[in-house]
Amino acid sequence: MTNPSFDTKIVHHKADQSLVPNSKTTPIYQTSAFTFKDLDHLESYYEGNSPYLYTRERNPNTDELAGTVAELEEAPAGVATSSGMSAILAGILAVAEPGDHIVAAEDVYGGSHKLITKELPSFGIDVTMVSFSDLKTVEDAVTEKTKLLYTESISNPFLRVEDLKELVSIAYRKGVKTMVDNTFATPYLLRPYSDGVDLVVHSGTKYIGGHSDVTCGILVGNEELIKAAQQKVVTLGANLSPFEAWLTQRGAKTLGLRMKQQSYNAHQVAKALRNHKLVQNVYYPEYVSERGHGAIVTIELDGTVDIEKFFQSLGWIKIAPTLAGVETTLSYPVRTSHRALSDSEREKIGINDYVIRLSIGIEHHEDIIHQLISTIESSVRV
Ligand SMILES: *Cc1c(COP(=O)(O)O)cnc(C)c1O
Repeated sequence: MTNPSFDTKIVHHKADQSLVPNSKTTPIYQTSAFTFKDLDHLESYYEGNSPYLYTRERNPNTDELAGTVAELEEAPAGVATSSGMSAILAGILAVAEPGDHIVAAEDVYGGSHKLITKELPSFGIDVTMVSFSDLKTVEDAVTEKTKLLYTESISNPFLRVEDLKELVSIAYRKGVKTMVDNTFATPYLLRPYSDGVDLVVHSGTKYIGGHSDVTCGILVGNEELIKAAQQKVVTLGANLSPFEAWLTQRGAKTLGLRMKQQSYNAHQVAKALRNHKLVQNVYYPEYVSERGHGAIVTIELDGTVDIEKFFQSLGWIKIAPTLAGVETTLSYPVRTSHRALSDSEREKIGINDYVIRLSIGIEHHEDIIHQLISTIESSVRV
């Protein structure tokens, strides 16, 4: 361009950016689309020889994140989406069409419960919610029209660990597919795809990202199902932005270190609270994997504890309606994740005013235990 004017220059600054091949980390491809040098180059995209056209369809940062999680889950393919919710929806729609039926666990994450019971029927998909504690009930709920069994590897807030091998064998017998939300376990502890689960989904907002600074989802499975799910993501506009993908990828690098420390800490907290007279119940899995048992501990406080006072005396521990960050936080299911449920629905799954979910962070475990015990002891009703 000879002597371009300011107005031209300002938009064509560094227009010819060749990639920097030796950058130590992946740059953020913060672009909505990709350009083509001529029509042959454009044609090469449609012939499958050039990967990128438009970010809603694919972007190097979202590809990198999806590829990383697929690799960790030991699955051939993955797709990254705007949130855990959209990853769940894309996964279900990749398997079920109008007229089909799915069977889902009644104790799934509140948002998933709402998606499945309130939204799927408007896609023409019938739903049966049952307890997955007894897998015979699940098998009995399968009909001619059933396409999918949906559950979580570790449930919320009571941390029931799913028997994935048994679930897969039922699905195999019945000729249906399985989809498992592996958010609480992460591939550090469990890899459901290796057990034969067809689709594994994550709220990357939680442990994969790990720093409470991004909302995202990832779905992994075989090439065929992921291609179908990716089509839904593209059409529904549920793609993840390049920057969010980059942040999640950055966080994911320490997933192993964080899960190791957080699972260890959680185990220590569970042991310490189990022996405390003001704690009625401690829910912590007996066994998840040889690497640890997860970083969430749910407790039921004694009736003599004043809950309002408890939440006012938390010291450095914050109340947060999420989990999985590097800081210890706690959440109150009655007022957050399970707020939308009726009293009787809550009672059925065992959630009452004294149930508190702790998301254990990377601090020193003795500091966490000390703060929790002093909060509990100073909150007894007088
Ligand atoms: C948070 C969460 C979701 C939803 O994920 P978002 O990223 O908030 O959309 C789904 N499943 C589980 C188990 C979760 O904890």
